[in-house]
Parts: sequence; structure tokens; C-alpha cells
Amino acid sequence: MSSSKMPIGGKIIKPGNAKEYKTGSWRNKKPVWDEKKCIHCLRCFLYCPDGAVKVKNGKVVGINYDYCKGCGICAKECPVKAIKMENELS
Ligand code: SF4
Ligand code: SF4
Repeated sequence: MSSSKMPIGGKIIKPGNAKEYKTGSWRNKKPVWDEKKCIHCLRCFLYCPDGAVKVKNGKVVGINYDYCKGCGICAKECPVKAIKMENELS
């Protein structure tokens, strides 16, 4: 999959092209998922505005850091604190 540069002014020049822009480089905090604490309620998946929570066979399997912008919504919504936000460079 290629990673395009955002056009000047953030114009959307063709529909359905979000996958071409790896927005993960915008992040300064990253969600760290703890598989042992996760009860697979999928709240993080439902609330993530970037579709960056990876799900396979109905279970969370990780975070797609190519697209995660580090907004922290997943960590806030997780009922068992299985996602923790950390500084990107730590
Ligand atoms: S930090 Fe935001 S963008 Fe990243 S996985 Fe969580 S909800 Fe999605
Ligand atoms: S919200 Fe928390 S417990 Fe629910 S699936 Fe996501 S990480 Fe797992």
C-alpha cells in the first residue's frame, strides 16, 4: 500500500482515498493495548474515528499505527483500562 502526501489545503481530490494517507505520522501519543486485560467488548473499535483498531474474528488483535492519530478515545472508552496512552517517543 502506498502512502501519499496530503494535497495542499487538505483537499479531497478523489472519494474513498483515506487508505492512501498514512496519518499515523501526525500522532504524538500512542495507544498501547494490553491483550491480557482486554475483554473484547469492541468499544474501542466502535468509537475509533480512524478505523485503526484491528479486529479479527470478532476480537481485537491490535492497533494499526499507520492510521492511528493518537486521539485517545479508545483508551477513554475502554471499560477495563486495557488501552493506555503513552508518549510516542517513550
Ligand atoms: S488513539 Fe484514536 S485513532 Fe488511535 S486507535 Fe485509539 S481511537 Fe483510534
Ligand atoms: S474497549 Fe478495551 S476491553 Fe473492549 S475491546 Fe477495546 S481494548 Fe478490549
